[in-house]
This record gives sequence, structure tokens and C-alpha cells, in this order.
Amino acid sequence: MGVSLASDARLASIRGRVPTVTTLCSHSSLQIFHGARAEGLPTLGISVGEPPRFYDAFPLARPDRFLSVPKVKDLPHVADRLRREGAILIPHGSFVEYLGAETFATLDVPVFGNRAVLGWESDRRKEREWLESAGVTMPKRFETAEEVDGPVIVKYYGAKGGKGFFLAKNREALADFRPTGPYVIQEYVLGTRYYMHFFYSPLSDRGYRVGHGSIELLGMDRRDEANIDELYKLGAQEELLKAGIRPTFVVTGNVPVVLRESLLPKSFDVAARIIERSIELFGGMVGPFCVEGIMTEDLQFKVFEISTRIVAGTNLFISGSSYSDMVAPGLSMGRRIAQEIKRGEAEGRLSEILS
Ligand code: AMP
Repeated sequence: MGVSLASDARLASIRGRVPTVTTLCSHSSLQIFHGARAEGLPTLGISVGEPPRFYDAFPLARPDRFLSVPKVKDLPHVADRLRREGAILIPHGSFVEYLGAETFATLDVPVFGNRAVLGWESDRRKEREWLESAGVTMPKRFETAEEVDGPVIVKYYGAKGGKGFFLAKNREALADFRPTGPYVIQEYVLGTRYYMHFFYSPLSDRGYRVGHGSIELLGMDRRDEANIDELYKLGAQEELLKAGIRPTFVVTGNVPVVLRESLLPKSFDVAARIIERSIELFGGMVGPFCVEGIMTEDLQFKVFEISTRIVAGTNLFISGSSYSDMVAPGLSMGRRIAQEIKRGEAEGRLSEILS
């Protein structure tokens, strides 16, 4: 038996009934509804204003019902209605960002996964504390510009899409940096980026065992980021800066990747450490998470970020990936979430996967 994350009171609205898979109509919602439908679970889409029309184009992913709210921030006012619908909320990047991690953490509606993770992920310092204490290698952090001994990336706190990030090839170039808010200076890691889509099931008793359960690798992608990805075509940094062009990392799409098979042990080791430490720190991260890092030429993997919920890169793999097909044919992350809910319900263990 794993850790109980939800009280009986929190789960009262879904006791003795088939729960309704519910999420905000955005980000990875098509995949989440598609997966729930494939597993025979009812679905509810929360839309801001009128339900988006594009769902009509995807009959297998259209939610059974919609609940419209004027603004995402109005969600706490409809918590009662969501409980009456037997909703289980599935967090995704946009859902948590638009609602705010703090409001999300206090909503009185059952949430898939451990909402305690939000406090650890939304604060870069706490995230570093979690990962480093797990023994995960992160890009070096410099407290002051004087300590800088190579290329660096300067990140603003909470910067959306890496807007305003500053790249400097050395300490001298950093002198041009004019901060406009709180920031961190990080080693700029030279290598190749990988975004690894894992799922931790505390209910599973087979596979790659971690804690009371097991982790599965369901896919991997790399993000297309504008304008940095194609910037090289225009020439060197200094010339671009003179022309007033600053690099940004706005995600515009995703491409599938696979890792050299000999690097998979490293990837599972990192994921396992992150889960084990999460269990010690706050009762465990449950469900989808993404380990985001850079593999260097000497095959060191440095993790610059972890997303503690379904990431949009999983949308590549709605009908399975090179990895998930070896877990179960055609398995998507959305479907995996629905399977976990069904299993939790059947075994009377929903309190271990909901909070
Ligand atoms: P983040 O906001 O930390 O997710 O970073 C946004 C993007 O910046 C990433 O997707 C990477 O492309 C890039 N990036 C972040 N940290 C580093 C780093 N330490 N070295 C090189 N590139 C980085």
C-alpha cells in the first residue's frame, strides 16, 4: 500500500460512481479526452466562453459534456458543480498556469496526482533543492557574474517561453546584461535536448519498480523553439544583438526523438531518483512527469527543468510511441491516466493517486 494523498472528504464526490475525466479545453485536452473515452470513462471539458469549435473536427476526442466559465479564474466558483458531476481534474501546463498554482492547490475538487508537487515545481529554488538532493546533475548555478567561467544563460523567474532570457558566451559578454527583474545565472549547457515523458504509478506492482510502484517511459520529444532554433542562419550573437534581435525560446511545436539505447539506463536512473526523493519530501509525485535536460558530448545528462504533469510533447503520441508501444500497443499518456483512475477505483485505492 502506498501513501494516501486524499482525505475521505475530498473523495466523497466520486465515491460509488464512475468518475468523470475533466480538464481545461487546451494544451493536451484532446489526448486526455481521447484516452478516457478509449477506456470507457465519461469526460467533461471546461471551456472559457463557448466550447471551442475544433472539437467538432475530432469526434473521438470530443468531451461528452462542456462546462463554460467566463474566465479560468472563475473555477473556484463552480467547484460545487464539478463535484456534482463527479469530476476528477487532470492538470496540464495551461490549466495550472492560467488558474495559478496556488488556486489550483486549494480547489476543493479531486485532482489526479499529488497537488503538493505544485509548490515544489513552481519555485525554481525549491525545484533545484528537490533535484539536487535526489543526486540529479543540473546546470551549474552562479551566484554572481564574477564567478562565471564559460557560456551562461540568464533566466528570469517565471519567464513564459524563455522570453527575455539572455545568452552570454563568457563573463565579459555578461556585462551587457541589464536585468529587468529577479533572475538566475546558469551554465549554458552545450549538447542535445531531450524531453522525456514518464509516468509513475504507485499502484503498479510490476515493471521498473520505484517506491511502492513503478515508472514507465511513454515517449520523448524535442521542442521547436522560436526564434532560437533557426537563429544560427542569421549569423553570430553579437551581430544579431547589434540588429536588436534577442534570442527567445517560445515553444512553437514538438518533434519526436529517441535516445541512444545505451543511454536509457541513465534516463531511468534520473527519473527513479526524482520519484524516490519526491516520496521522501512530499508523499510522491504521481502520474505524468517530464524530465527535461541536455545530453553533453561526454554523455552527461544535465536536467534544467522538470514538468510535474502531462506535457504538450505527449500530443505526438496519441496512437503510441516508440517507447509506449513496448508497454502496451497504441498507449498514449492520456489513456494511461484513464487506466490508472480505473485501476484505483477497482482496487479501492483512489486516495493513493488523487489529492
Ligand atoms: P526553461 O524555462 O528552464 O524550461 O528553459 C527554456 C528553454 O531554454 C529550454 O527548453 C532550453 O532550450 C533552454 N535552456 C534552459 N536552460 C538551459 C541551459 N542551462 N543550457 C542550455 N539551454 C537551456
